[in-house]
Amino acid sequence: MGIIEMYRTTNEKKYLDLAQKLINIRGESEGTDDNSDRVPFRQMRKVIGHAVRANYLFAGAADIYSETGDTTLLTPLNAVWDDVIHHKMYITGACGALYDGVSPDGTAYKPDTVQKIHQAYGKAYQLPNHSAHNETCANIGNLLWNWRMLQISADSKYADIMELALYNSILSGINLEGNKFFYTNPLSASDDYPYALRWNGGRQPYISKSNCCPPNVVRTIAETSNYFYSQVKNGLYVHLYGGNKLATKLENGSDLVLEQVTNYPWEGTIKLKIAKIQASEFSFFLRIPAWATNATLFLNGKALAVKAKAGQYVAVKRVWKTNDVLELRLPMDVQLIESNPLVEETRNQVAVMRGPLVYCVESPDLPKETNLKEVVIPVKSNWAPKWTKIVNADVIRLEGDALSYSPKNWKYTLYQPLKNQSEKKITISLIPYFAWANRGHSEMSVWMPVSR
Ligand SMILES: [Zn+2]
Repeated sequence: MGIIEMYRTTNEKKYLDLAQKLINIRGESEGTDDNSDRVPFRQMRKVIGHAVRANYLFAGAADIYSETGDTTLLTPLNAVWDDVIHHKMYITGACGALYDGVSPDGTAYKPDTVQKIHQAYGKAYQLPNHSAHNETCANIGNLLWNWRMLQISADSKYADIMELALYNSILSGINLEGNKFFYTNPLSASDDYPYALRWNGGRQPYISKSNCCPPNVVRTIAETSNYFYSQVKNGLYVHLYGGNKLATKLENGSDLVLEQVTNYPWEGTIKLKIAKIQASEFSFFLRIPAWATNATLFLNGKALAVKAKAGQYVAVKRVWKTNDVLELRLPMDVQLIESNPLVEETRNQVAVMRGPLVYCVESPDLPKETNLKEVVIPVKSNWAPKWTKIVNADVIRLEGDALSYSPKNWKYTLYQPLKNQSEKKITISLIPYFAWANRGHSEMSVWMPVSR
């Protein structure tokens, strides 16, 4: 990525040549899965390696494709993307399940070929929660890679992943006050989990040795505005939603000043107000997130007949005038999400999402003497969105009914007969995952057992 930026800045071909060479020599000498170069890049079909290095590599390769149109790079890029998104990514958009992995793991008996990998993508469906590594930088790498895939394809599936990572596994990397950081982003925390993981112990004010995540997450938040819009010959793509002002010159030569007015992701109404334009025909391409079935569009207060299909960009073309208001309404329904049953760690469990936000249960929000592990979500729960303050931030929590079971004694016990436990109806509050670990020591879980 850096060398391609040098090329774009200086226009000197030697930088583009160097970037291509760095891809071409991968796997030529003895490489490792740790560096994603055991095989030549063009032969890669699965993601195995160190998650940060892999995601940044894919982002750089996508950059080379965008400058050269070398289609031989697209086959591996599409294949590893499918592998990550369909087999190895957490519901939060986080990448790199394992602190330490090995490969190949259990698929071939050739001990001399087995390699150790640090901060590894695991096997397909291997997604532990307590011990999830999910380095903040790997999650940022997921954003950078998907941003580049979006640039070369205009396919909204990439913007969906960008938004998922931004609001969940990237934002979780920094606390609400902005002065403490996570290196790893697990999906659950339990005081009973017996491993002293290298990165246990809450958020850190400074991460020694590899102080990569804190500056990386801060600069990513600072540059988020760069990811909102793209221009094409006949219009303007709107990838992300959030209050902002855009002043630009369209490719057709018209000046455009656009104001995006919204309280997204807390609320689903997004208004694009044209503050200034020379009358000009072009299209707005608005991303309809894959979760947003029944999105609707309005122009100057009147419903538009355009079909806003989930998981696509919807085009609205007309001669735009100053003071036109294009309004998108996204349904912010609460959804219970289940995982592929091959993810053993989350079988018969659900996660709760509202819009792009993943929610979690955290111990400070539980009724007294409720054990987080004994909380069960009935499938027909109603969830009421309610404003609340966590530290300095106004966020929407979800209040709903759950069941709590009397705790069992699991000390020195790995298995025990199933007995009836007394059941209690309780009201719980879920908070956005990114906002956890801001109120002192806590237990937390994104996934909760479901009662059907
Ligand atoms: Zn890092």
